[in-house]
Amino acid sequence: MLNIALFGPPGAGKGTQSEFLIKKYNLFYISTGELLRKELAAGTKLGMQAKNIIEQGGLVSDEIIVQIIEKTIKTNSDANGFLFDGFPRTYIQAYILEGLMIKLNSSLDALISIEVSEEESVKRLLHRAKTSGRSDDNEKVIRNRLKEYREKTLPVLNFYKEKGNYIAVNGMQPIPKVTEDIEQIINDLLSKKLLNIVMFGHPGSGRGSLGKALAEKYKLEFVATGTMLDEEIKKGSKTGKKIRKLYESGQLVPDEIVIPLIERKIKNSKNVRGFIFKGFPRTLVQSYILDGLLKKYDSYIAKIFEIKVDTLELIRRLDKRSKTDAAMPYDSSTEKIVKRLQEHEDKTVPVIEKYKETHDVTVIDGTPPFNEVLENISKEIEASFKNLK
Ligand code: AMP
Repeated sequence: MLNIALFGPPGAGKGTQSEFLIKKYNLFYISTGELLRKELAAGTKLGMQAKNIIEQGGLVSDEIIVQIIEKTIKTNSDANGFLFDGFPRTYIQAYILEGLMIKLNSSLDALISIEVSEEESVKRLLHRAKTSGRSDDNEKVIRNRLKEYREKTLPVLNFYKEKGNYIAVNGMQPIPKVTEDIEQIINDLLSKKLLNIVMFGHPGSGRGSLGKALAEKYKLEFVATGTMLDEEIKKGSKTGKKIRKLYESGQLVPDEIVIPLIERKIKNSKNVRGFIFKGFPRTLVQSYILDGLLKKYDSYIAKIFEIKVDTLELIRRLDKRSKTDAAMPYDSSTEKIVKRLQEHEDKTVPVIEKYKETHDVTVIDGTPPFNEVLENISKEIEASFKNLK
């Protein structure tokens, strides 16, 4: 989800900018002012309670605001994200918004404040008054709305300054320039939201080729630790030489070597929408390492797949692969295949069990033809993009 609050005095251009943003980022628009005007026009009890206050340019009670916002959020909880205009308008409403976001299992990504001077705000509102037809667009009420803004709404900024997600935009610039600045801010926010996926499955289940195909389809970076170690050997780097020695003596490559390689990959990947991990984490220790590593980059595992294929079919596939160029060193004899399957049972299955307690692990039937399995996983991934916190 992408949740943004547009902030600024009346007349800052929040409505104008919203029109563009909701289209571009497919967000659900919530303007408390607009919702109140609808209640008023429909003559509801809520509308009648708010009528006098709106007409005098005062702020409607937080109780009324909670009711209209909660109703709108609840009926649109499957949205890509929300764009709030004119909310939060009091310090209390900032807490309310936090609570509403928790309910959605999400958070507010940023409060974007369109900053304009008070004189400019009055000038724009008086100009708008000529055509808006709004009963609160006249000088006396405008002055009162600005007073309310100064006294009750401006302190909201401190809430977000303390939280670290307040971003200011110069609203005195021409409209297209303000739009451009906001677009830049949102694109930066989006680039930090990574869809990280872990692919589990026995050797031969297809997790490698599926992972690669998915990475290409969704602009994700494919992180296959086995391949990374091989690449290091090929490069002949110092680490590569160490890995070769370990391989030759039949030892496992320790985490101290694997982890920096993964971290380097994460750090150096620009413009990716997330990572797909294959062959990692393989042990419980590595699962804690991955959580810690992603947390360091303000991210988390968003989706876990377990590709299930019946054991006999796995052996059939691995045996077939052993006769092709794609053969892995562990495919070369029945004994090796069994050993590798056993290792997966002993070390990796407990990792999957651990994740089942904390994450939503999606089991995918890996038996159907490749494209069908790919299609089934793709549907899940598309839903996950929507649910990114
Ligand atoms: P707007 O369309 O955002 O300028 O809002 C018009 C009027 O609706 C305001 O002057 C307030 O009286 C009322 N209003 C809108 N949003 C809120 C809010 N979040 N809290 C309190 N009153 C609000």
